[in-house]
Parts: sequence; structure tokens; C-alpha cells
Amino acid sequence: MPKKPVISAKHAEPSVKLSIRGVNRLQARHPWVYRSDIVEANDVPPGALVRVHDQRGKFLGTALYSSSSQIAIRMVSHGSVADLPALVAERIRDAIAYRTGNDLVRNTDAYRIVFSEADFLPGLIVDRYNDVLSLQILTQAMDAAPVREVIVQTLREEFQPAGIVQRVDARIRELEQLPARPSGLLWGDKSSTDVTMNGVRFHHDGLEGQKTGAFLDQRENYAAAAEYAHGEALDVFCYQGGFALHLAAKCSSVTGVDSSRPALEIAEKNAALNATLIAALNGGELEWIEANAFDLLRDYAAANRRYDTIVLDPPAFAKTKRDLEKALGGYKELNLRAMKMLRPGGILVTCCCSYHVSAADFLKVVADAAQDAHRTLRVVENRGAARDHPMLLNVPETSYLRCLILSAND
Ligand code: SAH
Repeated sequence: MPKKPVISAKHAEPSVKLSIRGVNRLQARHPWVYRSDIVEANDVPPGALVRVHDQRGKFLGTALYSSSSQIAIRMVSHGSVADLPALVAERIRDAIAYRTGNDLVRNTDAYRIVFSEADFLPGLIVDRYNDVLSLQILTQAMDAAPVREVIVQTLREEFQPAGIVQRVDARIRELEQLPARPSGLLWGDKSSTDVTMNGVRFHHDGLEGQKTGAFLDQRENYAAAAEYAHGEALDVFCYQGGFALHLAAKCSSVTGVDSSRPALEIAEKNAALNATLIAALNGGELEWIEANAFDLLRDYAAANRRYDTIVLDPPAFAKTKRDLEKALGGYKELNLRAMKMLRPGGILVTCCCSYHVSAADFLKVVADAAQDAHRTLRVVENRGAARDHPMLLNVPETSYLRCLILSAND
């Protein structure tokens, strides 16, 4: 379905010239160039496809332009691109083929289909929840009507979904100076469904909850955690029960803790969907506790509670670089408390989803906690996001989730 390019004839060849620093970024295989590195912009409307040059006029490739973001251009090709909607359709199909061709999404009907820059589609995220697809649009270029149309059309052809939902982050639309729009169905009539990951079932409501509704990036970590889990388990920051329900098959009891009552209500409903798993708890209990995790860990530690398996999956403490020190303090405190409650031979699954905390920072902070807790822990697995959330080697921003599985030696 050939579509017209988003750029109108009047702006047939919008172009930018980059400073040396901007050119160096592209040469380092990073797709972003900041506004301060654009030395000249000719006739570039918001969200346009632009031709990118160095200061001498040498052609470097094609990018998506944002008139408002500090990230002024996001490269989509080192060559010429005439038709953005056609490119988007092709890249969505490539993203699907990457996942199915490499067998990255077996054992699940919930996974990420398109992950923005990591699938060469800056500003587009698409998740599949069984027969409901959920998309997020984060840039001006992806929000242009012909691009939106081709996204919906391609997804319909590839998946025949019962519904396609758009989740809107009002703050991002404001930052991108896009008109406000509510979250809602873009196509079809279904926005909630059930999904199955690793044999565990979950409710999904496409218009509620965080992110696009679930933490799909943890899917493979759920299965890995369940491999080592045993005995009495505590899932701290359990949300809708992602880890807790995976642990149920292997543990004698599971306690999930979260400060969000609505999340725990869905966790309870999810438990009801998995009657056989819960029966496997051998008469042990599955319970949900609404509490502040820091307070609860302190109280439980003071009461000498002990566990065989503990999961820590807190929200991102470092939202910006400035928060880093304070965030590291928070991660250390949580890990220290959990390690003190772990029985010998116990398993600690500890996660961090702050991009600003590097994999090395996180290892260090967990190691510092072990030192203070006087525990020797072995790294059973050093993991990241599920493989359907790919990461680009030269784009550190695409790597944000750390998950260590540790066993307590003594
Ligand atoms: N492990 C979950 C995802 C956790 S997201 C999964 O795999 O699906 C982080 C969760 O931490 C959210 O559910 C949020 O409600 C909860 N949370 C945030 N601050 C908290 C606090 N101080 N105490 C307890 N829970 C908290």
C-alpha cells in the first residue's frame, strides 16, 4: 500500500547540518543527535524526515526530526529514505521476523513486538498481549497520521488482533508538543484479555496499570527465578504477582508485597486464574500484603523472619542522573535487609530497572550490601531484559534492566 511521504511537497527536502560533535556521535553508531549539535536546519517541519549532512555538505543519512525534544534527530538510515510509512511497515515486519526467526518468544503470547530504537523505529513501542496489541508513540514523526495508519494496518495484517490500544503518556506528548489525546482503542473492540507466560496466566487490561500494563521485560527472569526458587518465598514489589505466581509452583509458601492496592487486587485475580499452580503450594499459603517495602523489610528483619527465596524488583529509583547517589543508597538498603533475612542456601533475585544505574554500578552496590550483611553470595545468573527487548551494542540507553540471581553460601 504505497503511501505518500509525511513531508509535503513544499518541504520536499528538509535537511540539517551537524557540528563535528554531532557527526562523531553518528560515527559512534548512536542514532541520536542533540539540538545543540545542529548547526543549520533548512525548512524542517515537526516530525519530518530529514536529510542529514556534515558541515561541508557530505550526506550522512536520514533521520526523524523533532522540533521540541532536546534529541533533535533520531537516525533511521545511513542512506536515503523517500517514504516514511513504507519504511515503518517494513521495519515492523523485520521486528516480528527477528523475534520469531530467532525463536525469542516461545512459551508466551505476551511480548514486545517493537522496541523503539532497538528495532530501528525510534519512538514506537508495540506490545502483544494475546489478541490485544498495545502501542505507545513517543515522537512527532511516529504520530503523523500516515505513519499511525500504516502502523495499525501492518499490525492488523500480521496479527489479526481483536483490539489495538494506544497508551498515552500525557507528559511525553506535552514534551513533544503533540496535541493531547486520551488512551483508547485505535482499532477493534477489545482492550482486555488473558495472557499466558511460561504456563502462568495473567489478566491484562490494556487501558489500566503501568507501562503497557505488565512488565514484559521480566518474562524470562520469572522463569529463571522459578528454576532456583524453593521453600518460603517473599516477592517484594510484586505488582500484579509476576514473580510470585511463577514461584508458587516451586515454593512451600509465597508472600507478595506491594504498596499499591489495585495492583494487589489484580494479583489476587491472577492467582485465581492459576488454580493448579496454587494447589502445588502443598497446602502452603499465597498471600498479598499491602505495605511500604522498606518498612516491612525493617519490621520483618527485626522480628527475625527468614526466607529461602526473596525477590526484589523495585521501581526505578534513579529517574535522572542527579538521583544516582540517593538511588544507590536505596538499592543498597533493600539488598542489605533482604540478605539478612535469607537462609543459608537461599536465593536472592535482585533487580534494577534504572538506566542510570549501570550493570557495573548495580553489581557493586549489591556486593557492598553483602559485605555489610556479612554474607557470601554466588552469582548464579547475571541477567537483563527478556530477548524481545533487544539492546543495541552502541546505544547504552537500550539497556536498562539488571537482574541478578544470587545464592547464599552461608
Ligand atoms: N515485580 C513486578 C514489577 C514491580 S514494579 C512484576 O514483575 O510485574 C514496582 C512496584 O513497586 C509497583 O507495583 C509499585 O506499586 C511498587 N512500589 C513502589 N514503591 C513501593 C514501596 N515503597 N513499597 C512497596 N511497593 C512499592
